[in-house]
Amino acid sequence: MTTRTGGCPTRIGGYDVDLFTVAPDHELLCSICHGVLRCPVMISCNHIFCKKCILQWLKRQHTCPCCRTEVRGRLLVLMHRLNKRINRLEVKCQYEQHGCSLKFPVSRMDEHSSSCGFALLKCLNEGCPAEILRKDMDAHLATCQHWKQLCHFGCGTLLTFWNRDQHNCYLELKEEWERKARETRRMVARLKQKSRKIQNLSAQIRRQILLICETLDIPESNETSVHEVSG
Ligand SMILES: [Zn+2]
Ligand SMILES: [Zn+2]
Ligand SMILES: [Zn+2]
Ligand SMILES: [Zn+2]
Ligand SMILES: [Zn+2]
Repeated sequence: MTTRTGGCPTRIGGYDVDLFTVAPDHELLCSICHGVLRCPVMISCNHIFCKKCILQWLKRQHTCPCCRTEVRGRLLVLMHRLNKRINRLEVKCQYEQHGCSLKFPVSRMDEHSSSCGFALLKCLNEGCPAEILRKDMDAHLATCQHWKQLCHFGCGTLLTFWNRDQHNCYLELKEEWERKARETRRMVARLKQKSRKIQNLSAQIRRQILLICETLDIPESNETSVHEVSG
């Protein structure tokens, strides 16, 4: 007799009897979970249970759940041939009610369940209450209004279903740059206009001073001499 612990699925409890296409023999049932033995092991009194079921049981009690005799030691014997026999039995997909009509041996059950398109899954987006068949998940995610993601260009914008189509870092930068350039051009134009006004004004003043000088018969001179004369 050998003690084996590895190599079996780690789910607690046996296989659901209802999944089997042919009702399984009574001897294939676990008397703890009432399912079909998953990873069957034998204890010292020769009774057989799912490995997980008996390990859970022995944590609390030290007698066999069938015959109540004391369990000597922790020796669990893995029933290889029984395991193989169960693994060959045919089962329906556990998502049959969602539309999967596949049938396969028990040994392929876990592999199929983790990829079955008819498995009902929660939407991957936080806050979305939707439950979607795996096969429809991509289509749902494309239109899920709970979609959220930081812009992957690193601009720090939290993109949502509502703003992701408008968001474009490059365009936003370009628009910002163009807006600044327009502003600068407007400022330069305003400054040019002002300097032209000042030039015009100073030319006007110069003309008026000349006119005054001519009237008073004063030689063209600077403001000081004008002031001296008038004072
Ligand atoms: Zn069990
Ligand atoms: Zn027993
Ligand atoms: Zn399926
Ligand atoms: Zn969703
Ligand atoms: Zn961005």
